[in-house]
Amino acid sequence: MADRPVRAAVIGAGVAGILAVIELRKAGISNVVCYEKGDRIGGTWRDNSYPGIACDVPSHVYSYSFAPNPEFSRMFSPGQEIQEYLERVTDDYGVRPHLRLGDEVKRATFANGVWSLETAAGDVDDYEIVIAATGVLHHPKQPAFDGLDDFRGDVFHSARWNHDVELEGRRVGVIGTGSTAIQITGALVDRVSHYELFQRTPQWVMPMDNRPFSDDQKATFRDRPEQLEELRDFLETTFAENFADAVVDAESEQLAQIEETCRAHLYGQVLDPALRAQLEPDYRAACKRLVVSGDFYQAIQQPNAELVTSSIEHIEPGGIRTDDGRLHELDVIVLATGFEVDRFMRPMEIFGLGGRSLADVWADGPVAYLSVSMPEFPNLFMLNGPNGPVGNFSLIQVAEIQMAYIMKLVSRLQSGASQEIHATERAMREHEELRIEAAKSTVWVTGCNSWYLDDRGIPAAWPWKFSRFREVMAEPDLAAYQS
Ligand code: NAP
Repeated sequence: MADRPVRAAVIGAGVAGILAVIELRKAGISNVVCYEKGDRIGGTWRDNSYPGIACDVPSHVYSYSFAPNPEFSRMFSPGQEIQEYLERVTDDYGVRPHLRLGDEVKRATFANGVWSLETAAGDVDDYEIVIAATGVLHHPKQPAFDGLDDFRGDVFHSARWNHDVELEGRRVGVIGTGSTAIQITGALVDRVSHYELFQRTPQWVMPMDNRPFSDDQKATFRDRPEQLEELRDFLETTFAENFADAVVDAESEQLAQIEETCRAHLYGQVLDPALRAQLEPDYRAACKRLVVSGDFYQAIQQPNAELVTSSIEHIEPGGIRTDDGRLHELDVIVLATGFEVDRFMRPMEIFGLGGRSLADVWADGPVAYLSVSMPEFPNLFMLNGPNGPVGNFSLIQVAEIQMAYIMKLVSRLQSGASQEIHATERAMREHEELRIEAAKSTVWVTGCNSWYLDDRGIPAAWPWKFSRFREVMAEPDLAAYQS
């Protein structure tokens, strides 16, 4: 019997949204509209253009399995290259005609078997299926520093870099020591006259050897795709075994090795005991999202660089006043202060069966069955949704695994085997209970504050090995779904 025609909406044209369009089309669904509030595709790679931006997940893992890229310049490629790669995939895989750029979805309402999507421009369109690919680290977090508005110089968030602001020869202060600030430090110190990094909490830093691929290597990848596939397999396995599996078992041997490597990195690179003491965390490596950098320690020891560990008291017209009474005079302040990580699809208003509101369901924090489906929100699926593998993972790889799973549910909708499919309340609750219990053995709860932790102090992440993620996502358990 022929599949019934279904219309699908994808919300967001970042790495996951582009993937969703490709996979929906591959399954014969040609009526696909991808809404993107920005004016370009790329999501995080469009929004983040700060100096030094790169992906600290190996590029040949941080790329689509069906679109290998022999041209990546380095093991860990710069952000611009990733953006260009995504633009190319968008063209090569026919995603472009499905895009509605600059079109923000404000509201989604389910009634009579269809989702009605309402955009900021006031358009309303109906779809049988909605894929939310709205990203995780998406809404910049701007702490309310007293006096920030009085600052005479320029100030902006790292994810909203103001490229009109001159940096050469100026005094620049960066607030934060997350992955972003560490990358900025390496790229900026040599460009500015004076650089200050405002650290609230020190970070463990994993060394990174980021040599470029030679022309010969790239030619081999081009001519012998099986070699590139082998490299990808190798990187995926090594990464899963040595990192992803380590962080979910705080007692693991691999984690001890990561800690040893980070400590040796610090002690090998920073010889001044006072600076080293300031840079040495008092919590376990990978408790916070592990920072990876080959140049941070050298950069922060440059004569024009300073690590500021006194707390920020307030900001005034001339700069940042710390609680030791000192005024740090600055021309530019960069807020590398992270993201509101619990937003996901919000602030979109989403109403499921019987007018059930997502805002209410998520009032105590985002929750979903296996990150992809929510009870009473039929035919709405999420990529990189709540409590999935986050952090030092390839979110492209994670989204591919989730999308393959979602497509098995979508095929039931296409064939007519299901009209409305959504996880049961019971399946979601049971999954949550197991997840919360398993999170107790992870390194994330060993005594640090991080964006992984929700308001209750529970890691909002996948707390099991990556192999379990693959296993569970291999085939939907239909008993967990109402359809
Ligand atoms: P982040 O890890 O959340 O770091 C924010 C930083 O700002 C922290 O050092 C935090 O200090 C500091 N901060 C926040 N509020 C502050 C306040 N009121 N006063 C002083 N300091 C304050 O954010 P991020 O560096 O943008 O990174 C977010 C995530 O993006 C990363 O963890 C990673 O997953 C991803 N990312 C990935 C890459 C990559 O290469 N793949 C690169 C960049 C970012 P505390 O530590 O004390 O809270």
